Amino acid sequence: MVITTVSGDISPSDLGFCQSHEHLSIIREYPASVSSDQCIDDWEKSCQELKLYRHFGGGAVVDAQGLGCGRDAAMLRDISKKSGVHIIASTGFHKMFFYPEGHWIYSISTDNLTRLYLAELTCGMFIDGDNGYPVKQISARAGQIKAALDIGEFTSQYRKVFTAAAEAAKISGGVLMVHIEKGSDPIALADFLNKQGVVPNRIIFCHLDRAIADIGIHREACARSIILEYDTIGRPKYHSDEAEVRIILEMLKAGYEKQLLMSLDTTRTRLKSYGGNPGLAYIIEHFIPLLRRKELPEEQISLFFKENPARIFSKKA
Ligand SMILES: [Zn+2]
Repeated sequence: MVITTVSGDISPSDLGFCQSHEHLSIIREYPASVSSDQCIDDWEKSCQELKLYRHFGGGAVVDAQGLGCGRDAAMLRDISKKSGVHIIASTGFHKMFFYPEGHWIYSISTDNLTRLYLAELTCGMFIDGDNGYPVKQISARAGQIKAALDIGEFTSQYRKVFTAAAEAAKISGGVLMVHIEKGSDPIALADFLNKQGVVPNRIIFCHLDRAIADIGIHREACARSIILEYDTIGRPKYHSDEAEVRIILEMLKAGYEKQLLMSLDTTRTRLKSYGGNPGLAYIIEHFIPLLRRKELPEEQISLFFKENPARIFSKKA
């Protein structure tokens, strides 16, 4: 088994401490014009953030920005090399809100989109694709497929992009990470992905800790073997860290400790090197000590940041 990072394949045992959904590189493109928080374009600053994270014991991060939506694959490759932190990059798509009218993602066929995703997973990521069809590839490969579930009707456009992402996951053996929007229906999506033939334990649902208040839905997703990634940590505008721990404890009580991943889902205003707070190292500096004060066993904490990511992001060599 291997994990594909921007520097090549590594053994899962070499991953180290891993935050499973972050943003370290978003160029000043369309996503930044609709949300200024979606601009993380300073190579030095992002590298500095990773070095600080490494200083506190961080070993790896998953970058959750997909193709044609502001991702800078060359920047991810270089900041990983300079900081010594492994980066697992993403192919795949974000909410259609983040693509301007006329973007190729609206006109591409399902098969061609599947081909693009597979090309990024097996040959290398494209360093263009924001302002036109992607053509320029580098050798750094994506290590997972990102997708995003929006509220409202499951349109033919969403059916297309999800079908391509599902195909790419099945063919490559890569994991499919899904942004879950507040007010969307993740269980209906689980049914759809099931019909597409994606193995449930190769699906990660993100943000349920802030998007879905009904913990019964979290349990139902886990009962279907889906992985949950929680990242409403150090985000008092949503809820306190104490409230986050209560959600985690509920899931542990239900026996789903091997299906939980954790992270911060950073944006520009949450990265210290860009003048924001609380910084990429917040989990290590503050949240893990809180988990210890709540008497979570060390082995359980280790699962969320080491053993679970090492297993979930790995695939057959
Ligand atoms: Zn995100």
